[in-house]
Amino acid sequence: MKNHFKKTIFLSAAACTALAFSLSSCKKTYNAEFSGTSAAVSVEEGTLTDTEANVLPNESTTVESNIGPTVPAANSGSQAQATVLAATNTAAQSNKVSETTAAETAAPISFQSRDEKVYIMADDVNIRALPETGEVLGKANTGDSFHRTGYSDKWSRIEYNGQTAFISSDYTTTNVVEKKTSEAVSFNTDWEFGGNSKINSGTATLYYAAGSNKKGKTVCVNAGHGTKGGESVKTLCHPDGTAKVTGGSTAAGNTHATAVSSGTTMSDGTSEAYVNLKVAKALKNVLLERGYNVLMIRESEDVQLDNIARTVMANNRSDCHIAIHYDSTTKNKGAFFMSVADGIKGMYPVSTIWQESDRLGANVINGLSANGVKIFGDGSMQMDLTQTSYSKIPSIDLELGDKVSDYSDSTVAVLAKGIADGIDSYYS
Ligand SMILES: [Zn+2]
Repeated sequence: MKNHFKKTIFLSAAACTALAFSLSSCKKTYNAEFSGTSAAVSVEEGTLTDTEANVLPNESTTVESNIGPTVPAANSGSQAQATVLAATNTAAQSNKVSETTAAETAAPISFQSRDEKVYIMADDVNIRALPETGEVLGKANTGDSFHRTGYSDKWSRIEYNGQTAFISSDYTTTNVVEKKTSEAVSFNTDWEFGGNSKINSGTATLYYAAGSNKKGKTVCVNAGHGTKGGESVKTLCHPDGTAKVTGGSTAAGNTHATAVSSGTTMSDGTSEAYVNLKVAKALKNVLLERGYNVLMIRESEDVQLDNIARTVMANNRSDCHIAIHYDSTTKNKGAFFMSVADGIKGMYPVSTIWQESDRLGANVINGLSANGVKIFGDGSMQMDLTQTSYSKIPSIDLELGDKVSDYSDSTVAVLAKGIADGIDSYYS
């Protein structure tokens, strides 16, 4: 039963599996889809017919004509006014019978009038200007809601940012779906460079912006250090096994470095890792308020994710990566970011992204400076870091000060605002 089910309703089963739906609810979707697409078998190329008996011309009160592409003149007629065209690629994939007869033909979509609120049951669902192949106007996520004005088995017509748009009916429901506020993110060794990580049993947390000001961007906030045992494990400095070109916690010339170092200790005895986390949590809140999703690598004293795991996770689940650190000097030297070392700018994947990383860093330093934060030198220092070497997205190691820098609540709030201002300006 289950096998048969999987075979015959590829599209619905995928959606339902992702949502952990019950088999019975999947079946319901399947039946609805089947009855819709089976009618398409009778559609021949260049001929317009209604998809279902309940939208024949004499019942056209349930059908509207002001939607989608207009019907070609050659096909005009009483039925034409009640239909829109759309490619049947998905119908062909999900319906055995139509594969041979209706593939590559244009089938009409008839929308039943609706005036209701619908909720979205999955993440990253395309919102299109037209059904099937229309321009993607945006993405909908679990718990998002829209006003639905038209319904068909495959496509729903919705209002989106003041315009008419279309979304797959498979992912809609009139039952209330709660918005996802966060989810745990586990490491996937299949991700590029994932095999180079040695400590990756921990999970990060992805927080979703809840307001109406969503940016559609995810910022990875990485509170530096805080992986017990990370000092005694070595990982490859560079994905290609070449040696480090600058010093740092590991000297130039080495091919391996500590998986995660333990960090410095502030002059009052507090660990750098603790202060990094305090700033990271403040930054998370500011970013969420501003409409960014936030991937928090660490939210407690320890997370079992080494620097490679953190970076690879950021590559795959976020748009930019900000690591928070304090330097080990005692000069109250001010904030700066680790810019990309010249010696690794030609190395993959650094070669693909280093300009953007440096631009992100410059924007964040400007944001901090504009908020009155002391800046060290010109705000950057070239460094060959594991994080930089494995990053495929704009990525910076930010040193917000050193062992004697103030990290009171009020100072941390200013730092968080300054970093967020810099991220805003980077994306503006
Ligand atoms: Zn550090």
